[in-house]
Amino acid sequence: MREAVEAAMNGVRMVPCPACGERALGAPHGGSPVSVACGRCGARFDALADVLVVSDDVRLKGGCCAGWRRHELVWRENAQAPVQELTFWTWAQDHVTLGAGDTISLLFPDGDLRRPHGRRKRLMPLVAADHTRRHAWALVGSAPIATLR
Ligand SMILES: [Zn+2]
Repeated sequence: MREAVEAAMNGVRMVPCPACGERALGAPHGGSPVSVACGRCGARFDALADVLVVSDDVRLKGGCCAGWRRHELVWRENAQAPVQELTFWTWAQDHVTLGAGDTISLLFPDGDLRRPHGRRKRLMPLVAADHTRRHAWALVGSAPIATLR
């Protein structure tokens, strides 16, 4: 129980930095989407930080080994906040599962959440972390996954 409480309190700060692999991301200031910075290497990321999953509808596009998963994430800042939506993509083989009711963080390249996205330029997270299930996925372009547990 104590571990679960710590995980919920630390949230995005326990996620390894996608650039250097250290757990040195600063606490976000304000609501998501938000910019977070690494205290060690200085890299910046766009993030949904410590948000609640309402639902994550995942559709497989293409084959299991060369396809994509389209996530239609419905999320809210907290239990009282209005729901918001974000569509993002992962590779089919990454098997990112974000449970309804879980607290999660998603880290994207700096500026990506503010840019328009479509079929040609898909929005893909560098790291997805489910703090409730204590699981993190290092995705395309992020630091070595040996640093993740
Ligand atoms: Zn870093």
